[in-house]
Amino acid sequence: MSNRIFLSKTPSITSMKNNFIEGDSISRFEKKLENYFDNKKYAVALNSGTSAIHLALVLSGVKQGDDVLCQSFTFVATANPILYQKANPIFIDSELDTQNMCPYYLEEAIKKRILKGKKPKAIIVVHLYGMPAKIDIISAIAKKYNISLIEDAAEALGSYYKGQKCGTFGDFGILSFNNNKIITTFGGGILVCNNKQDKEKAIFLATQSKDVAIHYQHSQIGFNYRMSPVLAEIGNGQIVSLDENVKKRRENNLFYQGLFKEVNGITVFEEPSSSWFSNHWLTSILVDDKITNFTNEDLRLQLEKDNIEARPQWKPMHIQPLFKDCVYIGDNKAEVLFKKGLCLPSGASLNTSDRERIKNSILKIIDKNT
Ligand SMILES: *Cc1c(COP(=O)(O)O)cnc(C)c1O
Repeated sequence: MSNRIFLSKTPSITSMKNNFIEGDSISRFEKKLENYFDNKKYAVALNSGTSAIHLALVLSGVKQGDDVLCQSFTFVATANPILYQKANPIFIDSELDTQNMCPYYLEEAIKKRILKGKKPKAIIVVHLYGMPAKIDIISAIAKKYNISLIEDAAEALGSYYKGQKCGTFGDFGILSFNNNKIITTFGGGILVCNNKQDKEKAIFLATQSKDVAIHYQHSQIGFNYRMSPVLAEIGNGQIVSLDENVKKRRENNLFYQGLFKEVNGITVFEEPSSSWFSNHWLTSILVDDKITNFTNEDLRLQLEKDNIEARPQWKPMHIQPLFKDCVYIGDNKAEVLFKKGLCLPSGASLNTSDRERIKNSILKIIDKNT
């Protein structure tokens, strides 16, 4: 048969002309992730982790006015999709050992809402900085009350809890391949589903919800959320570096543990026990300035002077101006993590001389104050 003539075909640049890019790049990338999840999950490649969270909410049936329980201590991308659905975020405090959603306050929040006659529609839990949340307990609570569980594993590809991969515990999981994540496609995300029907529904929603018809027909709202095949092909190349990148980030964590071992008042964020395996996407510390005589901000400024980037830990959502009217349940542990925390350089590209520079810069401020 002769070549097909298309309705509106834009010529591609030569290097991308072959089917390699145009054809099945996306489905090969999805297959690779499904393999990574031992072929027990279905992966949908999307243009961002944020889109993946949004579709997880849509597939969980979250609609205008519904309540969604969300970890407060996180990046705003976790919570924004709740607003896209015109639903109400209810923010849950963290616990100190994992820095993630506190299971006690989660259940408190569910009970309180049920007493008010309104059961929450979904829970969004985060494995922040790559550290697994107490996801077995949280998952049991979600099942007990029959509430959809969405696992934001944007920062936790390569992390495990009790031997199980992060992103596989919930009704939906999401991953991100943004530039700064453990592997990158220069923008992209994955929605992890438990069954083929959810995967098909997600692809339908992500491609403008086109009904089956030759003419374009739509009976529900749709989105333009599919991953570009070019970026999927980058993912196909990058995914082989996952283990190596995890190894390097874990080495960074060990480096900081060694550096601060003898320093009173500084705690390096570590796994609470052998049930946790963190990819240590970012290593952070808590600075108790009453003991150290300097604050996390003093330390950040010292590093900045030496041209080394460090950042405060995430500012909790419930104290963000955007969410000032939202309900928050907890006792301000997330605020403590924000006020005392500092994220230190943790990239997989950090080399021995970078670490030496970081060490010397940090030692300056420690020596000045002892
Ligand atoms: C990066 C990130 C996201 C969003 O991912 P994008 O791909 O940038 O949209 C969501 N949640 C957390 C915790 C993140 O760090």
